[in-house]
Amino acid sequence: MVEGRIFSGMQPSGRLHLGNYFGALANWVRLQDEYPCIYAIVDVHSLTTMQGEETKQIQPNVFEMAVDWLAAGLDPERSIIFVQSHVPEVLTLHALLSMSTPLGWLLRVPTFKEKVRQMGEDEEHVSYGLVGYPVLQAADVILYKADKVPVGKDQVPHIEIMREIARRFNRLYGDTFPEPEPLLTETPTILGTDGANKMSKSLDNHIELSASEEQTTKRVRGMVTDPQRVRLTDPGRPEVCNVFSMHKLFNPDQVDEIYRLCTTAGIGCVDDKAQLAEGINDYLRDFRERRTELAANPERVREMLAEGAQRAQAIARETIAEVYQRVGLR
Ligand code: ADP
Repeated sequence: MVEGRIFSGMQPSGRLHLGNYFGALANWVRLQDEYPCIYAIVDVHSLTTMQGEETKQIQPNVFEMAVDWLAAGLDPERSIIFVQSHVPEVLTLHALLSMSTPLGWLLRVPTFKEKVRQMGEDEEHVSYGLVGYPVLQAADVILYKADKVPVGKDQVPHIEIMREIARRFNRLYGDTFPEPEPLLTETPTILGTDGANKMSKSLDNHIELSASEEQTTKRVRGMVTDPQRVRLTDPGRPEVCNVFSMHKLFNPDQVDEIYRLCTTAGIGCVDDKAQLAEGINDYLRDFRERRTELAANPERVREMLAEGAQRAQAIARETIAEVYQRVGLR
């Protein structure tokens, strides 16, 4: 059994924002130094919530995400980077695991109930695939015999159900899969430009990694600051201001000075934001250069993904052969 192999995936949502970067991607990049890593753009998962015409968006979203990943430093020389559906063995494993996973487990998953509610549906009308989401997630990880999934504390229950699915299979058919364990990593949650909600594309309070410098500056200029600071002469309260929390990430060396200036009304919000925009643009300059270059070479990006899929498939085929034996299909 392979030890210490990481798997993580993201649904293809298109261009990533600062929240995705600091909350996930930057950590994935770092983990490459410590473990063999497998990173997948999990496009089949998108079909649990997208249907019909909407699915036309999947291909462009996959491409944009791949370009962001590569530009951010996910390294196809070291890690296996691929698109979930390019290795169809995951669908086979999903079907086989669904034979040994009790329906009750899936119906009780809190995120399932939450999703059904968000969709304004009742459980009778949502798709079979949505109920089986955790089974596909488990298949993603254990197909590659990965045993570590980087998550934040709030996502530990997702890993728990994966473990149960793997454990049940192992009990029925013999030791086949490692039980995936959460690799707890503290990553910051990034607030959006509204200063109130988590940065998110759907709330349109985000700053894309690939935005131009002008777009970035414009978004930062629109950020909500301390509401009690009305006049330039009012001292600000950095501790309630999201511009200030972002300075910690992008202008770490100037943060003490900014704190002092803000709390003594030595700097106004307009200038403060200009400084933040500059910090973000400096931080992302190399990323953006690499991204532009990659986006201009779509063939190269597709080749990298195809190569990743090939490497992933070599592992996947071995697992499926073993599973076929175990469940009596060979
Ligand atoms: P998901 O629906 O799987 O959370 P998203 O597309 O929203 O996926 O985000 C992809 C990754 O980025 C996830 O790991 C998520 O936790 C992280 N992420 C998204 N938004 C933020 C944010 N505002 N701050 C920190 N991390 C975030």
